[in-house]
Amino acid sequence: MRLHEHEGKELLRQAGIAVPRGELAASGAQAAATARRLGGQVVVKAQVLAGGRGRDGGVRVATDPGAAGKAAADILGTTCRGLRPEGVLVEERLRIADELYAAVAIDPERACPVVLLGRGGVDVEDQAHGGAGPKRCTVDPDTGPMAAQLQALVAEAGTTGATAAAAAQALRQLWQVFRGEQALLVEVNPLAVVSDGELVAADAVIELDDAALAAAGRPVRDDGIGGRRERSGGMTFVELGGDIGLICSGAGLGMATVDLIAERARPANFLETGGGISRELMARAMARVLACRGLRGVLINIYGGINPIHEGALGIADVMARGVGVPVVAKALGNHQEETWAILEQAGVAVVRDLATERAVDLLLQQVEARA
Ligand code: GDP
Ligand code: MN
Repeated sequence: MRLHEHEGKELLRQAGIAVPRGELAASGAQAAATARRLGGQVVVKAQVLAGGRGRDGGVRVATDPGAAGKAAADILGTTCRGLRPEGVLVEERLRIADELYAAVAIDPERACPVVLLGRGGVDVEDQAHGGAGPKRCTVDPDTGPMAAQLQALVAEAGTTGATAAAAAQALRQLWQVFRGEQALLVEVNPLAVVSDGELVAADAVIELDDAALAAAGRPVRDDGIGGRRERSGGMTFVELGGDIGLICSGAGLGMATVDLIAERARPANFLETGGGISRELMARAMARVLACRGLRGVLINIYGGINPIHEGALGIADVMARGVGVPVVAKALGNHQEETWAILEQAGVAVVRDLATERAVDLLLQQVEARA
């Protein structure tokens, strides 16, 4: 779940990172009043969950409250990056001497956190393509970045003197936010150098981990970025547009299975139940997958560790009894597997007793082809 800039900046502020003084506004008049309180010279920024606002008229400098009101009304009356702004952020205008890019992210290849520092500004993506992107170092998730690592990074990125020390400090604080929020991304671009050694976060892009939020019982808001994604009643569902439905008992198993299906067919969805399988949840999971348009078959791939898959099988049987109209193949292993197999076979599900998910995909696709 991606946070709005103003929400992200609040987390940065709590971690001790300087952010511009500012307030959200919902109208031109409100923005003008805020600008007056802030001394007149402000930036007015569209609150949309997208980058590149500066290049699309979503970040405007105003030199007096009247101009701030006009800029806010303009921004609120149109779209920025194709999205309707959820308010504008009115902030004191910074005197920016230099722009840095600072972030903590997950390196998808090594699956570990990385700390990044480089030149900032609105052209960073172009630089990255040109090989002049930010410098990076991988971080042990348990210890966080070491002082020596940060020192080497700020030097490699070309910062010196008081600014280098401030950048190292800012990276440490970004790490604290990343760690404390279990974030997937904490990015500040630009991290504005306003004077020698004085850094202010002029932007904030924070992406939180929906799974971590859910596990902590915190609300997950639909940020509209992940396509059709739902998290409700103990399962996560993502529509993928194909015609082979899928139910899995965990995210890792689910992703591996989506990949196996995708080698030979088109997955209709990703669905994972997590560790809370029950008769009722499994019936709902079946109903949700069967609601996908143009579905040609359903693959169930569940593992009984903490999950009572034999109880889940009863929920699948409940839905099968109503008639599903497409082949359903299940691979179900682990605790209570024999009981599970018996319930599923009785209900008309083809059960694969093999350890390899490939066998289950084979069987389902055979059955789908046989019907075509
Ligand atoms: P983005 O385009 O969505 O990443 O939006 P940013 O918040 O990063 O703003 C885009 C650009 O506007 C930044 O790279 C800065 O150059 C500029 N900008 C943002 N805030 C200020 C400010 O307070 N003062 C000045 N002079 N420029 C700013
Ligand atoms: Mn930015």
